[in-house]
Amino acid sequence: MDYDDTIEESQRYLRLALSFLGKHCLPTDPLNYCVWYEYASGKNEDLNAAIDEYLKSETTFSKETIRNLFDLHIAGSEEKVNKLVREELKKLFIEVIGAIQTTNEHFSESENNLEAINDTLKPSLSEADIEKIVNQIKDEIGRLEASSASFKNQLNQATREIERLKARMARYRKEAFLDPLTGIANRRGFEKNLIQAIDKADNEGDSLCTIMADIDHFKRINDTHGHTVGDNVIRMVAMTIKDAIKGKDLAARIGGEEFAILLPDTPIDGAKILAEKMRLLFEQLDLKKKNTGERLGKITLSFGVTSYKNNESADSFMNRVDQALYQSKKTGRNKVTGL
Ligand code: GH3
Ligand code: MG
Ligand code: MG
Repeated sequence: MDYDDTIEESQRYLRLALSFLGKHCLPTDPLNYCVWYEYASGKNEDLNAAIDEYLKSETTFSKETIRNLFDLHIAGSEEKVNKLVREELKKLFIEVIGAIQTTNEHFSESENNLEAINDTLKPSLSEADIEKIVNQIKDEIGRLEASSASFKNQLNQATREIERLKARMARYRKEAFLDPLTGIANRRGFEKNLIQAIDKADNEGDSLCTIMADIDHFKRINDTHGHTVGDNVIRMVAMTIKDAIKGKDLAARIGGEEFAILLPDTPIDGAKILAEKMRLLFEQLDLKKKNTGERLGKITLSFGVTSYKNNESADSFMNRVDQALYQSKKTGRNKVTGL
């Protein structure tokens, strides 16, 4: 979300976002609002492409899909998350400052009223005058009490908001490394672990391998069975990969239907055997739709495997495994290529 939009632009995006929410029967919660505002602005090409692609096969959006879109395309970078939090803090400050100003106005109004009452104090006051003045003072005190109670209330509310914001920030930080669809690491989580593993390999001479895997002809699954089934297939693939690894190994979803597995302390032969084992696992699976039991047919994956060469960059290591995967795709899919 770009907070540098002009008021006119923001209003236009807001109207569009609300009309999208209405059209897709979505509640106006902050997450939905954020995703559709961003979509309406057209500034986040990845998000718009993902939504447009999704709309080709589906018309309804589950809460999970929206969360997925948000995490992948909006909250993907720390900067964006920080921007979001900053914006919420700004709103909170404006509310608190507004409450202080209102309370101040009430207090100075009361001060003026009390001074005016003071001016009416004469040496000779009748009982009726005294009663009137006492009642006026009582009213003022009542007003001051109400104003400070409302101020206290607003401050308490702001404190609760801040607590919620803090909790949300902690969650964002944690979730920033996880893929919301599958629960395994995302690209950032993978990269974080990759840097650490490379460091260890460089310093301690440990072997390190990576496997990259991509579902073959996945587009057909979406086109034939719809996006929700596609999502379930991605989840199933992630779980199968996760179950096939152990110990220090790390599985991550690094793209739509693309996975990377980091294998510390693993020689290339071991990595190739593991990739082949996974390839066979998928080949032997007979997938069925959860609710209807309808068969989805076979799904296969292509794999690339490579081992880290001392002192090379993470990019060169990952480019090689990407090349290996590309070779598998180019030479018929459903295979493992080592480079
Ligand atoms: P290839 O064998 O060459 O990999 O073919 P492919 O069809 O798997 O690859 P392609 O890159 O052409 O298409 C990938 C598809 O994956 C397109 C996109 O709609 C879909 N996709 C990406 N992310 C998701 C997701 O989160 N959920 C679902 N259901 N589909 C996704
Ligand atoms: Mg694919
Ligand atoms: Mg792909």
